[in-house]
Amino acid sequence: MTSQTTNKTLITETYPVPPFKKQTQPMPGLASKMDPRPDHGETSYRGTGKLTGRKALITGGDSGIGRAVAIAYAREGADVAINFLPEEEADAAEVVKLIEAEGRKAVAIPGDIRSEEFCQKLVDQAAEQLGGLDILVNNAGRQQFNESILTLSTEDFDATFKTNVYAMFWITKAALKYLPAGSSIINTSSVQAYQPSAILLDYAQTKASIVAFTKALAKQLGEKQIRVNAVAPGPYWTALQVSGGQPQEKVEKFGESAPLGRPGQPAEIAPLYVTFADVKNSFTSGQVWCSDGGTGTL
Ligand code: NAD
Ligand code: MG
Repeated sequence: MTSQTTNKTLITETYPVPPFKKQTQPMPGLASKMDPRPDHGETSYRGTGKLTGRKALITGGDSGIGRAVAIAYAREGADVAINFLPEEEADAAEVVKLIEAEGRKAVAIPGDIRSEEFCQKLVDQAAEQLGGLDILVNNAGRQQFNESILTLSTEDFDATFKTNVYAMFWITKAALKYLPAGSSIINTSSVQAYQPSAILLDYAQTKASIVAFTKALAKQLGEKQIRVNAVAPGPYWTALQVSGGQPQEKVEKFGESAPLGRPGQPAEIAPLYVTFADVKNSFTSGQVWCSDGGTGTL
């Protein structure tokens, strides 16, 4: 283009930078109680019909990254089912309204994915109410920091693995009977899979498991023409981080060490999930796409 465009900024949104206010919430936190409230793309995401007629189930779709993906998918033309914990009903209700505002079908299914029985019901209900399923986003996650292996209890270790690893296995297995050729499975891993923090011993292991699951399953499901990919976020400003995910001093400086100097907002990562789901991207499977603000984790 001309030299005029070189002086023009392409940045259309300005996002919050640290330091952030002190804040903690009980787990699971609510996006609506965060200060500043995360940007999930409520007023900014514009779709171009990339997912017209598609049917998606998103776990943890009430807040954070899952909510941003739900908004983006609805604006790209998909009907969307979200799962969340019963305590998160208020956040989920906002997402349902946003999906319906696009003229898309919204299905809200509360429940705890640490139960295999619930995971099966979740998938059946989502597929029944959406009239099928062709996108599965395994995004729900548990992150509770713990300073030492000596204070990390078996119960905590178990809860983190049940939520982050077992549930993904159960939900994916249950979803396979519905997913036609051309479907897409997208899992949320983390930079923690590659650069684990000392205080996230259990969580980091689950996120590494998600990478291996994604790559192995992509090999299994290739013959069914189902693609399996993962997104690996760096620091994103979400309820997970302020409800036991990080110690208070890290919350206040959250995102400071990223070269972009701030945490990402959920709206900034949703486009990656759209791209993985898009059938135009039909030869990409078994991949992990990292979004870490410039650290270069992958
Ligand atoms: P979030 O708290 O907004 O979303 C996590 C969701 O997980 C919750 O909304 C909740 O609905 C769900 N969840 C947790 N335990 C559950 C259970 N037992 N049953 C059902 N649902 C349950 O936070 P987020 O940061 O948007 O997290 C989404 C994903 O992103 C997680 O997998 C997280 O590990 C991953 N991630 C986040 C970051 C970050 O910096 N925020 C970085 C890397 C990876
Ligand atoms: Mg939530």
